[in-house]
Amino acid sequence: MLVLDGKIVSQLLKTEISQKVTEFKAKYHRTPGLGVIIVGNNPASHVYVRNKEIACKNVGMNSIKWDFPEDISEDDLVKQIKKMNELKDVDAFLVQMPLPQHINTDKILDAIDPLKDADGLHPYNLGMLWVNRQIVAPCTPWGVIRILKHYEISIAGKNCVVVGRSQIVGKPMAHLLTQADGTVTIVHSRTKNISDFTRQADIVVVAAGKKHLMGKNDFKVGSVIIDVGIHGSGLSSSDQREKSKISGDVRFDELQGWVSAATPVPGGVGPMTIACLLENTLKLAENRMKIC
Ligand code: NAP
Repeated sequence: MLVLDGKIVSQLLKTEISQKVTEFKAKYHRTPGLGVIIVGNNPASHVYVRNKEIACKNVGMNSIKWDFPEDISEDDLVKQIKKMNELKDVDAFLVQMPLPQHINTDKILDAIDPLKDADGLHPYNLGMLWVNRQIVAPCTPWGVIRILKHYEISIAGKNCVVVGRSQIVGKPMAHLLTQADGTVTIVHSRTKNISDFTRQADIVVVAAGKKHLMGKNDFKVGSVIIDVGIHGSGLSSSDQREKSKISGDVRFDELQGWVSAATPVPGGVGPMTIACLLENTLKLAENRMKIC
């Protein structure tokens, strides 16, 4: 079984981005900047945000973080987003999810300027993706496409099954696979006998958010398995004991000798998501310079 190593692929992408950032600085005499808005004290969210800041620094981009208390009102958060929309030094930004229950995620996403939408989750950008005029794609599914591309796993003509239909992962993933000429089925929590579908698939992307939901008997021999799920704290990403507690939606240990390729968790899709966030940021920065 080929282990699809997201650390290696993301590193290659980050090296490419870093070179492009150098060119950007030489051309425009300024540094591209990513903004991050975080609400509340969710420890995992703070780790993700910290990792994004480090990733920015490593490729030579600026990052700016606005941290708000858990009880910020929806209206106040929208006001802050509008402020960030206007901030000259910020080319793209994101609001770290999940948000506290009293805040409507759709309202927050709607408030982001689509031209600064680092995560590619504003309805405008999702719409552009849908009509095959992609500006930026949601980072996680785009990262999956990039991994498949890197390992020269062709999608065209393949039976692909996406497990999960969220706005962030499942739906855009299915669209990107369709765009790449895959024949795509989406299954979800209301689908009966899911393994009847996944066992027919050449490529399965599992994004159900259910720890160890699937194992070898859910997959066809020789298929390619992409595990998007992340479970476990991973709060101290430098700590090996913490890292070993992180797992995915797939029972990875069962796959050896059964499927042809699979992403591990950690070290598969996760690192790609951050690299694609940097890629989106740079793309939006370049677009902004062209219209300024
Ligand atoms: P989500 O919004 O909770 O959506 C989960 C989807 O899976 C829903 O469509 C749900 O169906 C479906 N589902 C739930 N249980 C299922 C089951 N037993 N069988 C089949 N389908 C089932 O989650 P998400 O935001 O898409 O994230 C999914 C996972 O990916 C999570 O573990 C998340 O932490 C991880 N994630 C990882 C990254 C990364 O960078 N690697 C990025 C984003 C998310 P219904 O629609 O019917 O409810």
